[in-house]
Amino acid sequence: MKQRTKKKVYIETLGCQMNMADSERMFGMLEEIEYYPTESMLDADLSILNTCSIREHAAAKTGSYVGKWDKQRKPGSLIAVTGCVAQQEGEKLVKDIRTVDLLIGTHNLHRLPDLVIEAENLHEEAIANGSKEAKLNKGIYKRPQVAEIWEELPELIPETPVSRKTKHFAWVNIIYGCNYKCTYCIVPKTRGDQRSRSIAEVKQEIKGLAAEGYKEIVLLGQNVDGYGMDIGTNFATLLREVHEVAGIERIKFLTSHPCDMTYELIETVAELPKLAKYFHIPIQAGNDEVLKRMARRYTFKRYMELINYIRKLMPDASITGDIIVGFPGETHKQFMDSVKAVETIGYDACNTAVYSPRPFTPAATWEDPISAEEKNERIRFINSVITETAEKQAQRFLGTVQDVLIEGPSARNPARLMGRIFTNKTVNIDCDPEEHDQYIGKICKVEITKANAWALRGQLAKTPALV
Ligand code: SF4
Repeated sequence: MKQRTKKKVYIETLGCQMNMADSERMFGMLEEIEYYPTESMLDADLSILNTCSIREHAAAKTGSYVGKWDKQRKPGSLIAVTGCVAQQEGEKLVKDIRTVDLLIGTHNLHRLPDLVIEAENLHEEAIANGSKEAKLNKGIYKRPQVAEIWEELPELIPETPVSRKTKHFAWVNIIYGCNYKCTYCIVPKTRGDQRSRSIAEVKQEIKGLAAEGYKEIVLLGQNVDGYGMDIGTNFATLLREVHEVAGIERIKFLTSHPCDMTYELIETVAELPKLAKYFHIPIQAGNDEVLKRMARRYTFKRYMELINYIRKLMPDASITGDIIVGFPGETHKQFMDSVKAVETIGYDACNTAVYSPRPFTPAATWEDPISAEEKNERIRFINSVITETAEKQAQRFLGTVQDVLIEGPSARNPARLMGRIFTNKTVNIDCDPEEHDQYIGKICKVEITKANAWALRGQLAKTPALV
C-alpha cells in the first residue's frame, strides 16, 4: 500500500453496546489506513454515523444528522453511515441523502478500510476532473457515492483489529446476530442469524486484553445464552474457559434471553468467583398473551423460575431487565400484569420503552389502537413503580464495603470518582481530585454511604483502599 498521510476520523455511535463495540472495531481497522480518532466532526477527514434502528424514525433521524454534518464539514472530508439503519435501508439511503459519501451495512463492516479508500479515490478523481461542485465540495450535487450492503452473511466471521476507548473494561463480542424473530425487532434483519465465535478466538482476544492491563471484560451478544448452539458448545463452557484467563478479575455478559438461559449457566455464575453476580434479562411483558404476540417464546412462569433460581443460589445478585409498554393491543389489564411483574421480580433497574413500530417488522403492520397519551401514561406509571423497587433493592448495599472498579471522574461531578461494584451498580465516590489518578483503573474498597434507585454514593475505605 502506498504511503498515506495521517487523517482524522470522528465516529458518533447511536444505540446499544453492540454498536459501541462495532465503533471500536472501526477505529481499530481505520488505524491501519492511518486514520486516528478526533473528538469533533468539525476537524475530521472522515465522519461516521454508526446508526441504530431501534430508535423511532431512525432513517429520518439519520438524514437530519447527515444534513447538519454536511453544513459543518471540513472541505474535502467524507461522511459515512454504518450500522443497522444502513443495513436496513440499503442503497435507498444514499439516493435519499445525496450528501452521504459512503454507506456500509453491518454484514460487511470488515470491508471498511477498502471502501474508505475507494471513496477517497472517487472523490479525488471528481476534484481532479475540475467539477465546479466538487471544488466547492458543498451543496446539493451528485457527489460520488460508495454503497456496499451485503444481504448474505460472510461465511467466516472476519477478525478485525479493535481500538478501545475504555482502558479498564473491554467489550468482547462472542456472538453476532440472533435466531429469534421477536415481532417488534429489526435485529434479525439487520444483524442476521446467530454466529458464534470459537472459544479459542474469544479466549485469545481476552488474553490479549489481560496483557494490556484490562481488569474487566463484558461478553456481548444479542442473546449470549444462545452462544455455541451453532458450533457444538454452550455458554457455560465458554464462561469456564474465559474464567481461566489470568489477569482478568471481572467477567460480565449481556444480553440474556429467558428462553435459552439454563440452570447450568446460573450454577456456573454462582460457582466461578470472577463472574459478576449480575444478570440483564429482558422480560418485555408480564402477560403471557402479550409475550406470545411478541414471539418471545417463554411465559412469565418460566421467567420467574429463572429469577428464583438465581436468587436461591446468589441472594445478592443484581437483576435488571427491559420492558415494552403499549405493545399493539395491550389491554389495561395486560399492562397491569407487567406492573405486577416488576413488583414481583424486584429489579435493581429496568429499561422501559413505549412501543413504536419499526419498519419491516410484523408488529408494524398490526393495528395499534392505544393512543400515545395512554402509552405515555402507562410508561410514567410503570417507571414510578420500578424506581420504588430499585430504591428498595439498593438499600441492601448501604453500610457495606464493596470492591469497586474505578472508571474515572464522574460525568456529573468531575470532583468525584465513578466506578462500579461487582454487580454492576454505579457508585460515585467522594475523593480529593488530586488523588484521582492513583485510583483510576484499580479495584478499590469503598464504603457505601448512600443508596438510591440509580446509583450509590461512597467513600474509599480507610485502609487499605486498594484491593
Ligand atoms: S431476541 Fe428478539 S429482541 Fe432480542 S435481538 Fe433477537 S429478535 Fe431482537
